[in-house]
Amino acid sequence: MTSNARTVGFQAGERNIFFHILTACNLSCRHCYINTGQHGTTTLARETMEKWLELFANPNKKTNVIFLGGEPTMHPDLAHGISRAKELGMAVTVDSNGYLFNDLLEKTSPELLDYLSFSLDGPDAMVNDPIRGKGVFDICTANMRRAVKMQYNVSVIYTVSSLNIGHLHRMIPLLTEIGVNRFFIQVIGLRGNSAQEPAGGQGWQVSPEQWLDIVPRIATQAAEAGIHVTFPKVFLDKNEVFECAGIVTENFFIFPNGRVYRCPLCEDHPIHALEIKDDKLVHRTGLTEDNFFQLNIAEGCIMNKLLQPDTISYDNKGEPNHRISCCLLKQEILPG
Ligand code: SF4
Ligand code: SF4
Repeated sequence: MTSNARTVGFQAGERNIFFHILTACNLSCRHCYINTGQHGTTTLARETMEKWLELFANPNKKTNVIFLGGEPTMHPDLAHGISRAKELGMAVTVDSNGYLFNDLLEKTSPELLDYLSFSLDGPDAMVNDPIRGKGVFDICTANMRRAVKMQYNVSVIYTVSSLNIGHLHRMIPLLTEIGVNRFFIQVIGLRGNSAQEPAGGQGWQVSPEQWLDIVPRIATQAAEAGIHVTFPKVFLDKNEVFECAGIVTENFFIFPNGRVYRCPLCEDHPIHALEIKDDKLVHRTGLTEDNFFQLNIAEGCIMNKLLQPDTISYDNKGEPNHRISCCLLKQEILPG
């Protein structure tokens, strides 16, 4: 089966705000990327959350805000943050581990919250729970059903690793049965825990051959089942142009200690391009991620080359077999 995936080019004039409002979480997923050494342990005060949202509001730009943690529903003022973001004209998403603390479904509404995303890494407890924790599958899927029943737009994020790639196809009947209409397939990154802990001897990452053989094919099948599927490009085709989102788009990854990154691959390092000081957004000087974005290399993404060199293979002339795309470049397949 061939894939009819379309690359979603970076949109000029659009901004995406990835807003970590706290780093605390009730779970301890084995691949968690939260790094409290770099991102702190603060839970933003309600007023600070509001002020920081206002820093990124721009009536002339389509702005998407994604509330993240830790587990963002542990923040008692998340529902307030959602309605403030909506007042500021933003499209709002919450990425949750599925526990939905503080009665989120009752405190907000499908009119205010455009998408509620659940992280689930397996089609059953046998696959999901060894990665995300005992009992997580049952709670997460029960809350997904509740949210669908209450008319929320529910999506699921599945982080593909060596531990679960063989079960990806089994997500299709599960999502269809629950009524999930968007599916984000994500690739495991070597940040946080997954950079430290091997996945039981075989490593977390899947090979280029496994990714290219399995992910586009299953994504096509999911779209045929009526689901809108998005997955990272990862490997550029020979004729495709490489673009670094740090240069051509406006993405901001905000952490509660005030660090603001432009590139998620940089988040384990104190090279953030911006920071929020006294509730003002300021550019940092010295060596920051901005300096790396300018470097053109044959392998594509510079941060991937620096942080994950093992993901690149070379031919006998020393040329990379695949150029690695920006980690933020996505492909999508619309329901067919
Ligand atoms: S739910 Fe998210 S923040 Fe919490 S432990 Fe898992 S990956 Fe980390
Ligand atoms: S992932 Fe690579 S290409 Fe994308 S913003 Fe970061 S450095 Fe640039």
